[in-house]
Amino acid sequence: MASERDVVIIGAGPAGLSLAISLADAGFGVTVVEKLPHATLADPAPDGREIALTHRAVDILQSLGMWQRFPAEDVSPIREARVIDGKSAHFLGFDTHGTQQTELGYLVPNNVIRKAAFEVASSKPSIEIISDVAVSGVATSTNAAEVRLADGRVLAAPLMVAADSRFSDARRRMGIGADLRDFGRTVIVCRFSHELPHHEIAHECFYYGRTLAVLPLHGLMSSTVITLSADQSNAMMQMPIPEFEKLVSEQFDSRLGAMRLVGERHSYPLVAVYAQRFATHRFALLGDAAVGMHPVTAHGFNCGLYGVESLTRAIRGARAAGRDIGSMPVLARYQSEHRRATRPIYLGTNVLVSLFTDDEMPARFIRTAVLRLANRLPPLKAGITRQLTGRA
Ligand SMILES: Cc1cc2nc3c(=O)[nH]c(=O)nc-3n(C[C@H](O)[C@H](O)[C@H](O)COP(=O)(O)OP(=O)(O)OC[C@H]3O[C@@H](n4cnc5c(N)ncnc54)[C@H](O)[C@@H]3O)c2cc1C
Repeated sequence: MASERDVVIIGAGPAGLSLAISLADAGFGVTVVEKLPHATLADPAPDGREIALTHRAVDILQSLGMWQRFPAEDVSPIREARVIDGKSAHFLGFDTHGTQQTELGYLVPNNVIRKAAFEVASSKPSIEIISDVAVSGVATSTNAAEVRLADGRVLAAPLMVAADSRFSDARRRMGIGADLRDFGRTVIVCRFSHELPHHEIAHECFYYGRTLAVLPLHGLMSSTVITLSADQSNAMMQMPIPEFEKLVSEQFDSRLGAMRLVGERHSYPLVAVYAQRFATHRFALLGDAAVGMHPVTAHGFNCGLYGVESLTRAIRGARAAGRDIGSMPVLARYQSEHRRATRPIYLGTNVLVSLFTDDEMPARFIRTAVLRLANRLPPLKAGITRQLTGRA
């Protein structure tokens, strides 16, 4: 690589590549190692995820030069969000009244984010991307972090960062535990075209036994996120398309008229993860490897970007002060800042999921009461809106 290597990042997912760009812009030399082939990174296939981005995340993506690369037709504004409980006529609504924004946030497909991240990272001379090879070992010593690749190469640097997914192998190898919460559910995500306009309103419907989120995309197109048990999800993934389309349309009370499946159905098991530490000497965790969120509050990648900001700030500050960027006092600053930023969102999301997916009587009663109460408490609604937009 052209410049000296300061940091090795494991994983060229959206979080790992965003950090690489941020560090390169701050003057550091970075190597990113990814097990996927170069062609997949350069042109990732749609994976069904439409990532809801907060305004703060948009600011970060703009500063990284990624936002500018998203095609206009792939950026869909959300003007309003409604939370519906069962078949109740009541909903808890959020909009931008009383804020300086005209949108709550924006939806961008995950593969579009990954493609833009790869393009920007590939254009920086101080970023080296090694693809098509998995990391098979990690170690740290007083003076260096060492990353061993499956082909026998060993990369050394003052710091390594693992952004290798919520099931991070590097995290385990470094002896860092994680609190895992298996929700025992699976989400099915896919796109539908429909007859009636969505008016840029996102819906989160908590029916008994399953939840359905319908997210507005450009034109007469929406993304649906269906949460259900693993058994039910297998059946729904195999269901003939006309039957599946009818079921989703009816489940959504035909608000969008007839719905037609566009593209494939994708499924993901729902497991949330919170690492017990985010750093040790010469090693830091980022993205889902640090905080793997349940997608219902749409915060996973947003939190990853907040982590990119904190970690870059800590490392840049250390260099300016002539300190070792891999030393624990430097990484401890990132760790405490990122835990403060993510812990309340993580715990709050898990409570919300428990409350809204528990079909027993006390929970049903509490959630109906919560929705009605929240509607009548403007400060509470304003607080949740700030959280949704990232302007907390
Ligand atoms: C259905 C769904 C909907 C979501 N919706 C939202 C949303 O609306 N808003 C939001 O903010 N977030 C959302 N998320 C979360 C978001 O997708 C994740 O937070 C984000 O993709 C995590 O990025 P990452 O880079 O940390 O990890 P990943 O995307 O998992 O990337 C990790 C990378 O590391 C590589 N890797 C793993 N092991 C190795 C190894 N040993 N060697 C080399 N490379 C390795 C992998 O191949 C991969 O490329 C959603 C998630 C799901 C499942």
